[in-house]
Amino acid sequence: MQSVFGDLNRDKESENIISLESLVRANYEEINENYLKIKEFRHSYDFGSLISNAKSRLQSFLGCDSLDTSVKWKPVYFLFLSADGKDMDDALVIDFNLIYKMTEEQRINFLAHEFFHVYRGHFENHEFNYANDINFAIDMIANEGIADQIDKYMGYREYYSSIIGSKELAEEFVSLYSKAEQDITTLQTILLQYADKQIDKNTCIDKLLEIYKYNGHALGFYMSNQIILAGLKQEMLKSFHNPYEFYRLYLLATNKNNDKLLSRKFLNYLKKTTEQYYQ
Ligand SMILES: [Zn+2]
Repeated sequence: MQSVFGDLNRDKESENIISLESLVRANYEEINENYLKIKEFRHSYDFGSLISNAKSRLQSFLGCDSLDTSVKWKPVYFLFLSADGKDMDDALVIDFNLIYKMTEEQRINFLAHEFFHVYRGHFENHEFNYANDINFAIDMIANEGIADQIDKYMGYREYYSSIIGSKELAEEFVSLYSKAEQDITTLQTILLQYADKQIDKNTCIDKLLEIYKYNGHALGFYMSNQIILAGLKQEMLKSFHNPYEFYRLYLLATNKNNDKLLSRKFLNYLKKTTEQYYQ
């Protein structure tokens, strides 16, 4: 997951339905039970190999010959949190109990997902993303949607129940995913109302918060899955830093089956909003 921004973080309770407190408590109870084994694992585990394997995994996911050498990688810290990772401003912070429980392949995919955010951060347009919460949400949906293909390609139910080990999160994400198509149409309606000046910025953000949960993971993952099903994966990866391209490819992918999902008008609005930032 990624750190949240501004107003999108103002009401934690409504944003994330399952409280962080309960996830942290469950994690600590598990750590307590396995503390000696976790300690032993920390002494014997090869963290350096994990980091280089995760970079290789990212490189093969992106389909490039080598990763850009000018990217500044962040240090990775392993702490006890909830079963998750966070991309902070100056470091990646990953729950160590989660790493302990995972298979090596799962660890590599998990870290490669977080590295994707760091790598993308190098190519993103920060001026666009951080101009306001609306831009931030538009971009984050694309960002998480592509990143989830690295470690959650098996689907949310299997990922959250088998890998993260939380039935609660599995149900939550499956439920968000099942209404993603509808929510993306709602996103479009909200943004067009804002573009047409029918609603002001704060109302727009309030309305977005009703569908933008957990940094827009489910919306983005639904979109990237439709893009891949339509055979447009390579195009999606080629323009992995550009949110407009992500929405354009989703429109292209879904128009083959349904022309009611995203409209040209919406795409033109997004193009107008983003084109000064992306060449
Ligand atoms: Zn993420």
